[in-house]
Amino acid sequence: MNNPKRIAKTPRIGAAGSFLVQAACETLWPTRCAVCDEQGAVLCERCARSLPYIDFWRACPKCGAPFGSVQCTECNPVMLRTIGRTALPYRSCASAVAFGPATARIVSAFKDRGEQRLALRMGRAMALTVAPEWIDGNEGAVAVTFVPATAAARRRRGFDHAELLARATAEELGIATLPLLARPKSVDQRTLGRRQRARNIRGRFLPLPNAVPQKFVLLVDDVCTTGSTLAEAADALCALGCESIRCLTFARVW
Ligand SMILES: [Zn+2]
Ligand SMILES: [Zn+2]
Repeated sequence: MNNPKRIAKTPRIGAAGSFLVQAACETLWPTRCAVCDEQGAVLCERCARSLPYIDFWRACPKCGAPFGSVQCTECNPVMLRTIGRTALPYRSCASAVAFGPATARIVSAFKDRGEQRLALRMGRAMALTVAPEWIDGNEGAVAVTFVPATAAARRRRGFDHAELLARATAEELGIATLPLLARPKSVDQRTLGRRQRARNIRGRFLPLPNAVPQKFVLLVDDVCTTGSTLAEAADALCALGCESIRCLTFARVW
């Protein structure tokens, strides 16, 4: 959240000044591709084309695992037990790309190095992953919401990464973004194993006090690892009164 006092103190430099500042920054710290480091764009066209995109038709229609369309090894009862569940609380999940070296570099540049311009590129890929029936047809308006970052992560980065992805995706899809969830204090997920993650996150999401229930929701996060974070966020959306939840992430660990 921006501090209004800081905004008020920011000197007005005008369009020409802003252009000069941008030009100076570009000279000192040129924009480089998050994957190949080539100068020019946050993600060059060659690297964007070469990402390991997930084929929607070959992925599991429930959990979105690549190649799980016929028989899924990720959302069967045995795997669900490892995250303490017998069923997933959302209708379906899809991801744009499989997690690999190139995907990891994009996520790291976005989240850890604060390259927020990547959100537009990631959101565009995510929007292309959404099946038309997820946001169209006779089901009514769909709102895009997101898995909120912890307060510590938001402070560290200065932005909520999933919110930026949700807003970029929603803009591509031409639908609204609505923050619906709060995330009270929890341990950093990256330090935990699969079972610990499931235990740590369980019940840690709550509907925002002023959240208005939405019948159809598209829940956005950056990476789906075990599915436990999305499931817990979906639980909170169910508690809020959302009836149909679909999940969408940029990357899927596979
Ligand atoms: Zn590149
Ligand atoms: Zn599956």
